[in-house]
Amino acid sequence: MFVEGFRVESPRVRYGAGEIESEYRYDTTELAPAPAPEGKGKEWVVRPKSVTYHFKTTTTVPKLGVMLVGWGGNNGTTLTAGVIANREGISWATKEKVHKANYFGSLTQASTIRVGSYNGEEIYAPFKSLVPMVNPNDIVFGGWDISGMNLADAMARAKVLDIDLQKQLRHHMASMVPLPGIYNPDFIAANQGSRANNIIKGTKKEQVDHIIKDIREFKEKNKVDKVVVLWTANTERYSNVVAGLNDTMDNLLASLDKDEAEISPSTLYAVACVMEGVPFINGSPQNTFVPGLIEFAIKKNSVIGGDDFKSGQTKMKSVLVDFLVGAGIKPTSIASYNHLGNNDGMNLSAPQTFRSKEISKSGVVDDMVSSNAILYDPGEHPDHVIVIKYVPYVGDSKRAMDEYTSEIFMGGKNTIVLHNTCEDSLLAAPIILDLVLLAELSTRIQLKADGQDNYHSFHPVATILSYLSKAPLVPPGTPVVNALAKQRAMLENILRACVGLAPENNMMLEYK
Ligand code: NAD
Repeated sequence: MFVEGFRVESPRVRYGAGEIESEYRYDTTELAPAPAPEGKGKEWVVRPKSVTYHFKTTTTVPKLGVMLVGWGGNNGTTLTAGVIANREGISWATKEKVHKANYFGSLTQASTIRVGSYNGEEIYAPFKSLVPMVNPNDIVFGGWDISGMNLADAMARAKVLDIDLQKQLRHHMASMVPLPGIYNPDFIAANQGSRANNIIKGTKKEQVDHIIKDIREFKEKNKVDKVVVLWTANTERYSNVVAGLNDTMDNLLASLDKDEAEISPSTLYAVACVMEGVPFINGSPQNTFVPGLIEFAIKKNSVIGGDDFKSGQTKMKSVLVDFLVGAGIKPTSIASYNHLGNNDGMNLSAPQTFRSKEISKSGVVDDMVSSNAILYDPGEHPDHVIVIKYVPYVGDSKRAMDEYTSEIFMGGKNTIVLHNTCEDSLLAAPIILDLVLLAELSTRIQLKADGQDNYHSFHPVATILSYLSKAPLVPPGTPVVNALAKQRAMLENILRACVGLAPENNMMLEYK
């Protein structure tokens, strides 16, 4: 059964006029090595530990502005078009049927959570009903692109949406024109040069100042309370991380003043956002968040999150390998082939930008492999190969082919082959939506453990977004979790804690 919403009645929750306060018992463990009896290896003692946390969530939902870097690209136009279509309740005909605008693929908008059972029936509610979130239909979009094409033409250039839908959207989008962007041909493929006609001139410091001015003007013009900036522009090559250049906050800011060549455009946008206290999310694989930028964001307590949308092949991988390793099966070889024909594919055909993607896609099974020393010896890892080819004809309809070979019982081998075909931007757009909605929400949640005097916000490096990220950015010294089910549980359980609900434990003891 489905319910639209619910209210928690408990002495541990208080719904106030502008906030929800909750008390939450966080049950965890403490581990310690203990002296083992003679001849036995190391022994470990596990002590259950409970800490009470207090959460405070502001329930006043702001008017949200979202500024996309790469607004005129396939993802940027598809997301903008999709939100307008939902807001306007647009439907369109294809040869199959009449379609209605929806938010399928969005965790917050189109998935549900179990809230309990009633008369033996499971009751589900929308994920977004846990705590008040911005309604995507109310978001004001804007942003930058090095191509000055208006969004209606850019939507046509992207060749993602059905033509009957495009026709209905054109008049909404023709007046939307991206602001000039920061262009540095050294960081993206040379084949992008022909679309770069909308560019901010000046030194790097002047470019950062320009971006700050853009954000302030956008906020003022659209009367939005908050802005989130998200990079969905071309994948850049990695920047070199060099001592004295970008390894610390001071060095990065000094390098900015010196107009150092090795600061990438994406890092410049991120610097502007941190200076302005605006959340910045990186949807591409490059190392925008060089150590100096991370230090800067932490010092300024300004939200940063990323990297690289976890949309298709990697999402499957972080489910399948989790399942295999969790089932006691040993993946020994993973070969992932992609071909795609959109502008992203063309940009990734250059070796330096491909390398960024290869790095981002490679780490995804590490946490699962290292979780099972029964299967893997220390340092052992499955062979893992990533191939991406540009095939213009298939356009945005990306093909991902994967072969997983595993060792099974008594020397047997198992090979699973997947073939995934899907418009890439239709996968990415709802993920972008979730990223900005959750980034905004995370700035309204505060917490403190029992004994602490003051509430604090989440760490500015937003691990809460890791379900949506191919290579989750975490604060220094924090474990990276890639397994999709764990990432979803983390997010859901934190939001449940905000309304005083226990984590979903799936024990169903009442029926045992
Ligand atoms: P796209 O090439 O269609 O769009 C990128 C846009 O960014 C272009 O319009 C380009 O002109 C613009 N641009 C490039 N550099 C810029 C700059 N410095 N400032 C402002 N604008 C700039 O690509 P897309 O398909 O929309 O994908 C965008 C990014 O998202 C890519 O890096 C891609 O790797 C990443 N990504 C996409 C998916 C997916 O499923 N679609 C998944 C993971 C990551």
